[in-house]
Amino acid sequence: MAIRQCSAAHCSIADPEIYAVCVQNGLPAGYPVLTKDPNGPCTCSCSCLAFGTPVQIGNNDFEVIEKIETGSKVLAAGLDLQWSEHVVEFSQGTAGSSTQPYTVLITYEDRFLAVTSDHVFLLADKSLKRADRLIVGDELTSPDGSPIPVRSVHIGEYTAGFHHIATRKALPDEQLSGHLLNTNGVVSADYVVQISYASGERRSQFIANHDELPVVGSPEYVAAYGDDCLNAPANIAGLTLPSFIARDMPDSGQPAFVAANNIRLSIPVDAHGFVSDEEAERLAQDPKRAWNDPAAKAWTEYLLSHYKIFFPEVTYHFDWADNTVNAYAWVQNGVRNVAILGGLVRHMALELEGVSIVTAHELAHHYGGPPTHPGSLSCEGQSDYYGVRTIMRRAWFGQYYLDMTDRGIAQMAGFFGVANSPTAPGGNAGCTHPAGACRIATYHAAVSLTGKPGCAG
Ligand SMILES: [Zn+2]
Repeated sequence: MAIRQCSAAHCSIADPEIYAVCVQNGLPAGYPVLTKDPNGPCTCSCSCLAFGTPVQIGNNDFEVIEKIETGSKVLAAGLDLQWSEHVVEFSQGTAGSSTQPYTVLITYEDRFLAVTSDHVFLLADKSLKRADRLIVGDELTSPDGSPIPVRSVHIGEYTAGFHHIATRKALPDEQLSGHLLNTNGVVSADYVVQISYASGERRSQFIANHDELPVVGSPEYVAAYGDDCLNAPANIAGLTLPSFIARDMPDSGQPAFVAANNIRLSIPVDAHGFVSDEEAERLAQDPKRAWNDPAAKAWTEYLLSHYKIFFPEVTYHFDWADNTVNAYAWVQNGVRNVAILGGLVRHMALELEGVSIVTAHELAHHYGGPPTHPGSLSCEGQSDYYGVRTIMRRAWFGQYYLDMTDRGIAQMAGFFGVANSPTAPGGNAGCTHPAGACRIATYHAAVSLTGKPGCAG
């Protein structure tokens, strides 16, 4: 299932049906919404400000973003920062309680803003920059044009509604006339500017090489600017931050930002990986999707919730912030666990179907029977075979099973860098990870029900 970026013209910002799907299902911004046409899926609309963000609507008059409706008035400007009243032509948002992945939280002066990754800010030099490219020291702009340095930049999940507005639906002119807003004391571009950037129609106003800048939280960003972005902001005098709750705390109903490092898992050393540590190191060098790719996160969460229907006694984990290309199964205090790590789902070769095979392999460690590792979890070759033969047949009915395994095996061949061939090589891996060609042959044998090949141990 390939998820491509859609064009602005295809996914009209005012499409009420797409909006209804997103809101009625409580989907976060960036979630893929497929329509049956050749242009690829749309996404739940983006470029949003968290509920509660004050936006200037008149002289010394502010309103929170979620209460600004179509037909109401806001103060807006162009690059000249001459502010005047404009009528809002467009106003949309997510449900109030959805969890928004890849939220960027920035602090400046004694304030903060929580925005989706693709929210656009005006910098003091009059260029534009997406929130997920900001660094400490970037200068945002006050409504009168004076620079406001960014004090800290963080990425995580935020449980809150997100909302966006635009003063006009038409493409912005070169001066972005009427498309700039005062959002909690700094100037943001409206939703139309973001859409026109995503579709490639208006990029000249963005800072040079914008696309090549590392994404907040990614390995490249951390290497260049340190890992503060993965943690919650430190206390800043006078700054009232949203509550920072720990993972797994019951939903308090309050907006809560959970920094990337606060959802990190610790995987026991005796957990069984989908690939060996050495192979994971090698796979780490392969091309990856963007660190904040919403589609890869969405299909992994879908898969885990789907497998949970059939194997409810397992505790499922998804650590999207971890760049390790692997997945794990283990038993701790009598509880069965399965974990999928972000580096695996971002691997270019894998999509929903490939990650489905990986998840089935991890479940098969728990249910696949002998031969087993010490401690009763099934051996690697056995987990490959039982996962595709039995676990996936249970989770995917009839033709869905054949479609899922056909595509999944093809993706796994790309992942291991081997031919998609049912012919098993020689040798015997024992209980350890078989070679890639053997694993592909094992998956084919599991679909054809021809018995586990000898190479798989
Ligand atoms: Zn394994």
